[in-house]
Parts: sequence; structure tokens; C-alpha cells
Amino acid sequence: MLVRAALTIKGIVQGVGFRPYIYRLANEYCLKGFVYNAPEGVICEAEGERESVMQFISAIPIYKPDAASVSELKYSFIKVQYDKQFSILHSKEGGTQTVISPDLAICTKCKAELLDKTNRRFEYPFINCTDCGPRFSIIHSMPYDRENTSMHCFGLCKDCFDEYSSPIDRRFHAEPNACTDCGPAITVYDSSLNILHTDWLETACEYLKNGKIVAIKGIGGYHLAVDAMNEEAVKALRQKKHRYAKPLAVMVRDIATAKSFCYVNEQEEAELLSKAAPIVVLQKKETCKIAPSVAVDKSSLGIFLPYTAMHCLLMEHIPAIVLTSANISDEPICRTEDEAFEKLSGIADLFIAHNREIIHACDDSVLQFCAGHKQLIRRSRGFAPAAIDFNGSKIDMLACGGEQKNCFAVSKGNNAFLSAHIGDLHNYDAYLRYENEITEFCRIMEINPEIVVSDMHPDYASTHYAGKYGKRIFKIQHHHAHFASVLSENDYKEKAIGVIFDGTGFGEDGTMWGSEFLLGDCAKSERAAHLAEFRLLGNEMAIKEPWRLALELINESCSKKELDEFLFELPLNSSLLLKNDWQKSSGMGRLFDGVASILGIKQIVDYEGQAAEILENYAVSVGNQTDICLHFDIIKEDNGTIVIDWRPVIRQIIIEKKNQNSIGAIALAFHNSLAEMILKVCQELSLEYNINTIALSGGCFQNKLLLSKSLELLHGAGFLVLLNNKVPCNDGGLAYGQLAAAAALLEQEG
Ligand code: ZN
Ligand code: ZN
Ligand code: FE
Repeated sequence: MLVRAALTIKGIVQGVGFRPYIYRLANEYCLKGFVYNAPEGVICEAEGERESVMQFISAIPIYKPDAASVSELKYSFIKVQYDKQFSILHSKEGGTQTVISPDLAICTKCKAELLDKTNRRFEYPFINCTDCGPRFSIIHSMPYDRENTSMHCFGLCKDCFDEYSSPIDRRFHAEPNACTDCGPAITVYDSSLNILHTDWLETACEYLKNGKIVAIKGIGGYHLAVDAMNEEAVKALRQKKHRYAKPLAVMVRDIATAKSFCYVNEQEEAELLSKAAPIVVLQKKETCKIAPSVAVDKSSLGIFLPYTAMHCLLMEHIPAIVLTSANISDEPICRTEDEAFEKLSGIADLFIAHNREIIHACDDSVLQFCAGHKQLIRRSRGFAPAAIDFNGSKIDMLACGGEQKNCFAVSKGNNAFLSAHIGDLHNYDAYLRYENEITEFCRIMEINPEIVVSDMHPDYASTHYAGKYGKRIFKIQHHHAHFASVLSENDYKEKAIGVIFDGTGFGEDGTMWGSEFLLGDCAKSERAAHLAEFRLLGNEMAIKEPWRLALELINESCSKKELDEFLFELPLNSSLLLKNDWQKSSGMGRLFDGVASILGIKQIVDYEGQAAEILENYAVSVGNQTDICLHFDIIKEDNGTIVIDWRPVIRQIIIEKKNQNSIGAIALAFHNSLAEMILKVCQELSLEYNINTIALSGGCFQNKLLLSKSLELLHGAGFLVLLNNKVPCNDGGLAYGQLAAAAALLEQEG
């Protein structure tokens, strides 16, 4: 019997070769009808024998293109129309739209053509197809058609047009399709911005091999590159970029090269080779030949593979380059030629620019694995702006995120769309990009936020932005947002215990929180336990200078004699102790900093979290064995709140240090004591409230040693442990948690 089905398919179905896929599939089943892109998704009508139509429908999600994802497939039967063929129709505009695809790493077919001397695109740096290439970074409106991207100014040549128009071609409606004759091209500039009429590839390789710094315009912004094996070049790059310590990422030729430098397990390999092509933090091998300055004091290395044709060509000639976002310290990544020329003159010796405009800047994404668990550290290129499911609301929302590692999020229904990494909003340029991206994001996705969600911190730029927005505001406590992010990702609706450890976050009582045991659900939680607070001598200064924390911790824990001994060791300004109106904090990150300082590891940090990273490194270096035992006191106050007293730990650390125990052994014992304390407090709360689910979040859980030890103990005690894996546990995931919490609150309002 002849039937006709009308289908609506939603998800990542535009810009990923979905219509030609449907076309080919329909022809396989001898169906007639049509397919087109519409704002609400891909629309298809398919007519044929009933059995064929049904088989066709069930095949759609199974054989879909790699880069596509189907979130919804609805169909109904309509009147038969006796079409003669199956065709691809023009896109329709307007109304609600479907999801924008993230940028996709070059596919194996394009890479093979790129290196094939007989191919017409041999060494063409902008080769792409429906399976790969830029997407989000080049789009300025929906639907995703060439005229709505930064490819609009490049007319297709005859050959490219034929590919673009042929439904059986891999480049059918590949919107950025191009070749040497018709597409974007590279321009090379020297450090004085004179155009060099030389071969870009030869010149770039020559500069890199000579230890020079090359600025390269990639998919989501400019990068700075140097030869990763050249210590002098790496040092020079650090100096000029004012990035003295933060580890730099290394792009390597292929997976074999990655394995020659680092240990790569199956999961890590799959991520390196994925369409998102993120930076994966790997364990360095002892034989690793990468310049030591790339990752100072680190046993790990951030590695990624070439994800554009341009990178592939470069890497054919040089096995490993440092490739780091082109910016100076906290500024946002350079997006345009003007920005690059202004900010990078004096840094870059050579500019490899091109004339395909980057509309949305997108830094590289970073992830790591801990005990088999994937942790996103930065969710940006390759992930943004793909939707993340959550229990949303009917009202469009905007979540403004935090202050550092900012990323904002908007929501429509059950879809949360997180922006690319924006950066630290106390930097004015980053803030300007933030404002602009929010406006553009909402415009492209046709989202009109009626509710704006922000942190409670009165001085965050994102809080001020929320205030200016002129809509109803929900303020969500920082650590509750982290908690909600885990619950929401895991679609967990019951009550749970949230263990949220991070640097600092504004608490409901006006102090800086940061070691929280929360009790509740997505909508609301109570602070059931926390670390005893301590003063931040010098307020913000204490974050940069851990010795200030050490001074306070020792002063509170030890005798005058011990304090004097410490002051003798490190001639410090102890008069800071006399002032009483310093800000108070219970941030776990700060406790880590203080302990690192007491152990003499780090007195002044170059970036937040550095001291803790080094402490973790020391701990890992001694293996898994230590005879030292440190214990926190767990005290129940009259009002029922549990306070965790760190003084016994500090006292014992001082003793162990005097006994000349190794720093590594003490550092390991400190990690052990934290995991033990987490377990004890969770057990106590679990007994009292009959809750057996623990949600771990906050930036401190990027510490792999702390996370794996905590998981081991909690699992051993029979707890169900929830973690983040779609958004970072650091403040990059905060906006998502804000959305989840606000949606849950709205639902309660009814
Ligand atoms: Zn391709
Ligand atoms: Zn062409
Ligand atoms: Fe945080």
C-alpha cells in the first residue's frame, strides 16, 4: 500500500550533511517526496510502500552522519501526492530554529585529499565538506545557509558549485565549500605588517624552525605558535605573552606522536580523534622531548591533534608546536586582523592571516580523564553551542555565569545553550566580548530571555550585567549553582548531598564560601557543613600570595613559638595579623594554597590554583604510600551545622615538617585527610537525613588525586556519586547550574 509520511527531525541536523543523507536514504528505499531545512528542524515528506517508509524512518537515526545528532523525530501520515522523485528543496526562514552545530575537525576524506598531489584541493588550507569544517564560528544568522555565514562573500566557482549542487556529492550544500580558485586565501605578514609574497607554508615552517613566534588565524581565533621542542622559543613566548607559568598546549602531528610524548589510553585517544578535537591533558612520559617550559612543575601535558587543514599542512613539516590562544594574559583570544595586529605586534614575528571572517571567537576546549571519568575543564570549540538537555522552563532564560572562566548560557525549553569560553570578566575586553556575544547568541537563536540568572556576588561584572538587563532576576548562590549543575546533568530529581569545593564564592551570609556540604535539590539547598573560616590577610591579595594564608593558618593553629619559627623561615609582614576586618573565607582552594605555602612550595602564585596543582604533583610523586596521618576535627555546632576544623591538620603538618618528612609524603597525607573528611561528613549527614547520593563539584575536584581518593572512599561506603561530565566542575559550568536552579525554582512557583 502506498503511504506518505510527514517528518520533523530536530537536533544537530543542519550543516552536517543531513539533507543529502536523507536524500540518499530515501532513494535507497525507492521513496518519493522532499526534504528541506526549516527553522524548526529538518522537514521531510516521504512516499512509498508502507514497509519501505517505515524502514526508512527507523533507519534515519541509525545511519545519520557522524556530526549529526537527532534529539527528536516525529512523523504522521498524510495524503499521498504521487511525486515523481525525491528532491531537496530550499530552506525556509523564520520562527523557532534548530540547533547550531559546533565547529568540526577536518575529516579523514578531506585530509586525504589535502595531501593528494592529484587532487584539485591539494594543500588548499580551507578544504572542508559536510562532515567537517567551521560551523558556529562562521554563522551570523539562521538557518545555516551560505549567505548567512562569513562565506557569503565568496562566490562558488563552476567545480565547487557542481559539488555543492549534487545531492550525491560529499560537498552537497557544504556551506563553507571552496577551493583555491574561489575560496578564502592566506596572506602572510611580517612583524612590521608588510605583506610577504612567499609561500605561507614554507615561510611559517622556516620561522618556526628558527625559533620564531608565528601568529596563526585558526577556526575560532588567532593562536601563537612556536616549536614545542625549542626551549628558548617557548621561554620567549612566555615572556612576551606575560604567561609565566600556566601550562601551554601542544599540537602534535598525529596520535603516534602523542603516544611518543605521553601515555594515551583508549578513552583519551578517542577524545583526541573526536570531531571536537579538544586538548586532552595527558600524563607525560619520562622520555618526553617537549621543552620543559611548556608545562613547568607539571607531570602532565595538554595535547591536541591538527583539526583544520592549515594545521595538518603545518604539522606535516614539524612534529609538535606549542599552540596557545593569541592574547596577553587575561585578555580574550584575538578574533580579527585588527585585533591581532594591535595586540600581537611586538609578540609575533610572522602573521598567517586569512580572509574568512571569524564571527564567534572560540578557544580550544580542554578535558581530562580521572578514574575513567571524563572531566571537561574548558567547554568551548567543538562543543559550543551544542545544546545540553535539562529540565527547563517554558520561559526563555539567560544565565550570566560567574566572574572567572566565564561562560554564559541561554535556554529555550529543555535546551541549554552554553557560550564558548569568554574568560575573566574583570578584563574589560573580555567583558565587551561577553556583552556582544550575549546579544548575538540571543539574536541568532531567537531567544528572548524573560528571566535573567546571576551569582549573588555583588561585584561580579556578570551580576551587574544581569542588573542592567531589565528583566526578572534570580540570584543563585555560587555553590548551589555548582550543585545544581551536577544534579541537572545527571537528571537527578531527589535530594542529595552536594560536596562543593572551590576557590571562593559569595555566601548567603556575606562571607566567602568555598568548602560546602549542601543538602537539597536543584531548586534549593542548605549549608549543612563547611570548613571553619579563616581571614584572608589582604583580602584579594591572599589569593595571589599564599604566604598570607599560611600566616593566618599557623597563627590560628599553633603556639607563638611555632609562629615565630615560621616567621624566621620566611620574613613576612606579621602586622597583617593585627587587623581584624579582613574578609573571611572557607574556600578549599585557599586551604590548599596555605598548606602549599607552609610546606615551602609556593609563596606567590602566577595563576589561581597553581599552588594546589604543585601540591598535587608532590603528592603523586611519592606513589600511594605514606605513614603520615592527618585528621580534621568534625564539630557539630548547637544549630546543627557541622564545622570542619582544620587546625589539627595544620599543627600536624608543622610537626611532620620539623621531623623532616618529605614534602610529597605530607602532601599525600593532606589529600588523604580531605578524602577521609569528605567521607566522614557525608556519612554523618547521610545518617541524619537518610540521603545516599553525593554530588561532587567545584574547581577543586579537577585535582585528580583528590577526586579519585574521594570516589574510592565514597563508593567503598556504598554511596551513589554524581559528577559533572557535560559541563566543567569549575566556574565554566556555573551558568548551566544557574539555569537548572532557576528552572527548578520556577517550577515550584507553578
Ligand atoms: Zn571533510
Ligand atoms: Zn571553487
Ligand atoms: Fe566556583
